[in-house]
Formats: sequence, C-alpha cells, structure tokens
Amino acid sequence: MLIDGHGRRVNYLRVSVTERCNFRCQYCMPEKPFSWVPKENLLSFEELFMFIKVAMDEGVDKIRITGGEPLLREDLDRFVKMINDHNPNVDLAMTTNGFLLPEAAQRLKDAGLKRLNISLDSLKPDVAAKIAQKDVLSHVLKGIDKALEVGLKVKLNMVPLKGINDDEIVDILEYAQQKGMKVRFIEYMENRHADQSLRGMHGKEILAKIKERYTIRALGREGASPSFNYIIEESGYEFGLIDPHKHDFCESCNRIRLTAEGFLIPCLYFDEAMSIAKHVKKGDIEGASQVLAQVLKDKPKENRWSEEDPNEEDISSRAFYETGG
Ligand code: SAM
Ligand code: SF4
Repeated sequence: MLIDGHGRRVNYLRVSVTERCNFRCQYCMPEKPFSWVPKENLLSFEELFMFIKVAMDEGVDKIRITGGEPLLREDLDRFVKMINDHNPNVDLAMTTNGFLLPEAAQRLKDAGLKRLNISLDSLKPDVAAKIAQKDVLSHVLKGIDKALEVGLKVKLNMVPLKGINDDEIVDILEYAQQKGMKVRFIEYMENRHADQSLRGMHGKEILAKIKERYTIRALGREGASPSFNYIIEESGYEFGLIDPHKHDFCESCNRIRLTAEGFLIPCLYFDEAMSIAKHVKKGDIEGASQVLAQVLKDKPKENRWSEEDPNEEDISSRAFYETGG
C-alpha cells in the first residue's frame, strides 16, 4: 500500500501521454508553447507501462490517461490494452477534449477503457471556438454521442469563465442530464500559462446560477474525489463541483501524476517533481520504486490556490497541459 508523508493512502495515478494539443484553450494553453518537449524525450508506452506496473503492484488501482490531448498519441488503444491486460479490474479512465473521439471511441472501448471525462465548456459554436480558439463544437458533440453509443461511461467537465460561458451553466447541466451523463463544474485554476485576463467563477457563484432555476441539496464528497456532489430536488439529477480554492479535499488527496517525459508530480499546484525516466529506460524497477517512495514522502499537505482574489503567489506556475489537469 502506498502511504504519503501525511498518512494519506495514494491509489490513483494520472498519466499524461503527451503535452501537445489540437486545441488552444484560453485557460490552459492559449498559445503554442515556446518549445515542446522533443519527441525523443517522451517515454514510450513500454517505459510508461513499466512504471505503471510498479505503481499497480504497490497499490494503485485507479489510472487516468490524460494530456495535452491524449488522443494525439498514436496507437493509444495499444497502451490502454497493455494496462487492461495486466489488470482488468483497474479503474481505467481517460480525460479528452473529445475532438478525435468519433474515430477513436470504439477502439478504446475494445481495448478495455471503462470511463471517459470529456471537456465541454459551451454548447454555442462561437463560444466553444472562442475558448478553444478553433471551431470544435460539432466534432466534440459527435465524439460524446459516439462514446455513449459504444458503451463508455461518460462524465462532462466544464470550466465556467466570467463573461464567456457563465450563462451556459444550466444549459450544460440540462444537456448532460438529458444524455444520462454526470457533469462536473471545475473552478478555473489560475496558472501562469493561461490568458491572464480570464476570470473564473467561484463555486458559490456557479451554484447560485443553478439555484436561479432549481432547488439543490448538498450530498457530500464522493470518497477521495475532489468533486463535491449536489442533487437537483426537482429531478433527482446529481452533479459535481470541484472547488480547489477551498482545498478541503486535499486532506483526502489520493493521487500523483506522471508526465509524458517521466516526471512524477506530487501536487498539481506545485513545481516540484522527480524523474523516473532514467530508471525505466534501464529497466531498473527498484530505482523507479525508490523515486515513487520519495515523491510520496514529499507530497505537500495542500495546494495554494486561495479563496480570495488571486495575488502573485497564488498563481501556479504548473502548466495544465503538462500535468494533465
Ligand atoms: N485535453 C484534455 C481535455 O481538455 O479534457 C485533457 C487534458 S486537460 C489539461 C484536463 C482537464 O483540465 C480538462 O477538463 C480541462 O478543462 C481542465 N483544465 C485545464 N486548464 C484548467 C484550468 N486553468 N483550470 C481548471 N481546469 C483546467
Ligand atoms: Fe488542450 Fe485540454 Fe488544455 Fe484545452 S484543456 S488546451 S483541450 S490540454
């Protein structure tokens, strides 16, 4: 079992397979980064899998593939199959912008993927295009339909932004409800890579928009998930809110992150990371396991996003497209 320096059990590994992306979301990667990680520095699926096996053998039973946009990595279904064949009971999920799902969903399902989180910030083509800086909506909606059609469990993620998509919170909730998917509203997390003019909505403001239409009741947190659940009294529909500015979920944080070039990241907010690359490249399982133990020992107690208006030190320098969110 993996226990961190604050006594928390860690059983969840998020694996970013690429930092590249076919969108340029204003809150994540508004411009193409000055330099990408050179392709030769990316770990191969075999190298990533070697570490995943170490983590699974030590107690990780939940894995999420993310990015950048994970579907840009060629043959991703082969990677999904490697993990699923090793342990078909692992809770194997992926987060994607959905653009490439119309072609990929069936292959992912056949390879053993169980769940998908798809990012959907707007149902208006012009607003979706403004956020992603590309005409994306029709592909994403087709991707959602395809994922549901092949039998994947789908949740939606929406990041509400003031003056951009804050009038669509109820519309997205109702769209998700109508299709039988859960939606999770994620507070915008300030970071140095985003468009600095953006203003996110606090959890309270998101809930206030929903309360204008519905009566809602708080249900509580789902295990160690950062998502706090609510129920709409009128329909019994449940949705989630992820509000990292409160950091009350940090006390049960169960996750670590692995980047595409092999950095193990103990917390989304902080810059600290240790590399397992040289160990997996040599097949040194013991070395990789020691790095994992060190990262767990050093895992911070909580993030530093503040509930107040952010000042300089509350803005994380971590790039979401590197860590996978
Ligand atoms: N490209 C995929 C996607 O967009 O779903 C996976 C990677 S993306 C970094 C993972 C999640 O992080 C997405 O749901 C995205 O909306 C969220 N995200 C990115 N930047 C964020 C920010 N600054 N604040 C809150 N959520 C963010
Ligand atoms: Fe790409 Fe996802 Fe970041 Fe948008 S949030 S730029 S889709 S990695």
